[in-house]
Amino acid sequence: MDLFEYQARDLFAKHGVPVLAGEVIDTPEAAREVTERLGGRAVVKAQVKVGGRGKAGGVKLASDPADAVEKAGQILGMDIKGHTVNKVMLAQTADIAEEYYVSFLLDRTNRTFLAMASVEGGVDIEEVAATKPEALAKIPVDANEGVTPEKAREIVEAARFPADVADGIAEVLQTLWKTFIAEDALLVEVNPLVKTGDGKIIALDGKVSLDANADFRHEDHAALEDKAAADPLEAAAQAKGLNYVKLEGEVGIIGNGAGLVMSTLDVVAYAGEAHNNVKPANFLDIGGGASAEVMANGLEIILGDPAVKSVFVNVFGGITACDAVANGIVQALELLKSKGEQVDKPLVVRLDGNNAELGRQILSDANHPLVQQVDTMDGAADRAAELAAK
Ligand code: GDP
Ligand code: MN
Repeated sequence: MDLFEYQARDLFAKHGVPVLAGEVIDTPEAAREVTERLGGRAVVKAQVKVGGRGKAGGVKLASDPADAVEKAGQILGMDIKGHTVNKVMLAQTADIAEEYYVSFLLDRTNRTFLAMASVEGGVDIEEVAATKPEALAKIPVDANEGVTPEKAREIVEAARFPADVADGIAEVLQTLWKTFIAEDALLVEVNPLVKTGDGKIIALDGKVSLDANADFRHEDHAALEDKAAADPLEAAAQAKGLNYVKLEGEVGIIGNGAGLVMSTLDVVAYAGEAHNNVKPANFLDIGGGASAEVMANGLEIILGDPAVKSVFVNVFGGITACDAVANGIVQALELLKSKGEQVDKPLVVRLDGNNAELGRQILSDANHPLVQQVDTMDGAADRAAELAAK
């Protein structure tokens, strides 16, 4: 999960990374009072999860409270690379003498953490990396040892920070590393990390990406989620504990096991080429259990997607046998009906594996008008695509 700058700044402050005071607002008028509180001047910054806000006009200096109201009015509602600005942060202004770059990230290729640092901050760091790679130091950080004072010194030397800021930068690198580890982040980046006119080191911008796999040990991270931006179907699925990803197509997919569902997406996309180019509408893995309740929850989400025209239920019976899954499907349809849910899209079901014969018999006996069975995965995908294209 990527954070907004103001959220990154809060985490930095919590772990001792030096930042400037600031507040987030969502109406221009609110800027007046906040700017007064900040000492009469402020930098007004668009809060969107995309870089290059400065260049796009999303970062403006305000010389007094009235000016801050005007600048906030200009930035709120602005579109920056497809992201609408709903919030701005007002922050204390800094007297910038130098702009640097520092970050820590997970380096998957080398199976370690990586520190990156440059005295050429403030600008697009990808451009520095491409045009002047020698100006961007990259130092591996051992997960067990972390950023010790010696490691911080090594990074400072590799990036050739001037002597007068060496101690200050080394200090920030250690607190930033603390943030990275304590919050289970995949990335913490400061661009620019500035030296002020009076020689202080301050993080003026922050980018943090948190590892969702560690959410269970960070109760406070749930509050950082941008609920307004979440896909409503994905949010509903998440609330039901389902592994669901919304896609752009018309054929709803339910399967048991991530591998089977992934290959179902491929097979449906291929079958769709012959049927008006229909595509899978989602990924949904209902896992091993496939109880009636989980099946009902999955069907409810998929049938609630207005883009879905047909549903393909692809199950390979294993520990949970096909007869249990078939009963699950029958009960799920009854459950949805009793809840007053509209069940009006055709379901193509393919059952194979453990007790497939029995499962198919159960579905035939139930004789539900919307359910049809096809015995093979390719055949069922073709049928579901054909129905979606109608
Ligand atoms: P980004 O463009 O999205 O990375 O946004 P930043 O927060 O990095 O801001 C862009 C640039 O605005 C920085 O590199 C600074 O040059 C400038 N800037 C940000 N805050 C201040 C400030 O308080 N005072 C001054 N003078 N410039 C600032
Ligand atoms: Mn920046």
